[in-house]
Amino acid sequence: MSRLVVVSNRVGPLKDTGRAGGLAVALVDALTQAGGIWFGWSGEISEEGTFGNVRRVGSRKVLLATLDMTQADYDAFYVGYANKTLWPVFHYRLDLAVFDRHAEEGYLRVNDRFAARLRSLLRSDDVIWAHDYHFLPFAASLRAMEVENPIGFFLHIPFPAPEVLAALPNAAQMVRRMLAYDVIGFQSRRDAANFRRFAVEEIGAREADNGDLLLGSRRTVVRAFPIGIDAEGFARQATTPDARRHTRRTEKLLAGRQQIIGVDRIDYSKGLPERFRAFGRLLEDYPENRGRISLMQVAPPSRAELDAYAEIRRELEALTGNINGRFADLDWTPIRYMTRSFTRRALAGLYRASRVALVTPLRDGMNLVAKEYVAAQRAEDPGVVVLSRFAGAAEEMSEALIVNPHSAEEVAANLQTALTMPLDERRDRWQALFDRICENDAASWAQAFLAALNNQGNGQEEKEAS
Ligand code: ADP
Repeated sequence: MSRLVVVSNRVGPLKDTGRAGGLAVALVDALTQAGGIWFGWSGEISEEGTFGNVRRVGSRKVLLATLDMTQADYDAFYVGYANKTLWPVFHYRLDLAVFDRHAEEGYLRVNDRFAARLRSLLRSDDVIWAHDYHFLPFAASLRAMEVENPIGFFLHIPFPAPEVLAALPNAAQMVRRMLAYDVIGFQSRRDAANFRRFAVEEIGAREADNGDLLLGSRRTVVRAFPIGIDAEGFARQATTPDARRHTRRTEKLLAGRQQIIGVDRIDYSKGLPERFRAFGRLLEDYPENRGRISLMQVAPPSRAELDAYAEIRRELEALTGNINGRFADLDWTPIRYMTRSFTRRALAGLYRASRVALVTPLRDGMNLVAKEYVAAQRAEDPGVVVLSRFAGAAEEMSEALIVNPHSAEEVAANLQTALTMPLDERRDRWQALFDRICENDAASWAQAFLAALNNQGNGQEEKEAS
């Protein structure tokens, strides 16, 4: 059996720390089964950076191999090109994107150096699986070093419409580099279709009947592999003593009122200001909810060093103050906004205490919060998901109430529907969602991707042999 080599910006943890998400769990499972290496950035900045030694920890079967970055690498690759260029462009925010040639060069340089370091660890029959927008050109870097192993890539964030991507300088070269992968997986069918159309229209790739892309002598499998969570594991977390404590504390505080919950990193893609305004609109348009419904928004800060993120934070604080000032009463605060972080168990308990999950990103690759909320519910009295049509999860979760997050009226009307939904309907919708989330979980996602990669790896070899 071939070893698996996982490549991602951040590596680990190998053990479920109670904070690790389904992704880490699924990858560790896949790595443990096949044996292999998890390769990426150490999270450390050092002078030697990508030129330095690869640090290895872990068991005989699964090795964590990490490299530092220099300050210049970190600024150009991570803060610069990945987070100030690719992240906004891929989330349809050209207005926030910074186009800087030096950042792009740094991004390509770091990919080359990571590839060179990985090459020294590779065996000829290893299967390589790279993750996310930090590594779009990683296979091209490896191929230039004559690495012929099967290499797959999964994009965790959206892939934008070609009209949007075209604004990225050198987008065509980047997509051409991506076609050095044997398999490219996307979160949704829409993302896969966007990629195919760009490749066909802008670089002259040919689309096969099954959706594969052909360019020169290479064939790349292009497909949606919607990522899942460890649904049964998360459901179990919701019944741990720690989770129950959080459910009870919240319910006690609510004293018979209902709660809507939102859980998101603070990011402009998450539609948080729009969400707060929609909640204000609910109180405005359906005044019977005043004094009875509150919004709990859990929003840990991320990428605080970027201006766009500091700005959204200020906006949220102002909006919270505004709405609370306007509607609050002696014994009721409309919005409870918390920027702290919770353990997964505590979070599961909070989901369980909430009648509605409000998941309204303006763009999101998948959105795992929607799935976690479903997994954490009580079968006998489950809550309702109000979900943005622009989250990848909407393709799979049609029993949620699907909304346009830009329309405060529409979101408020759907919140009202969710809050007044009869128990039977809540159960029916929840059961369908829960069954699907258990079936398409993190483990089956990893298996499906690796099956496609192993298959295609063999196909490419046969073609070369003939
Ligand atoms: P993204 O990857 O863009 O942040 P997702 O919804 O796909 O969005 O995943 C977010 C993950 O982060 C979820 O697993 C969620 O439970 C977790 N998370 C978000 N906020 C918190 C918090 N305050 N405490 C703990 N976990 C959180």
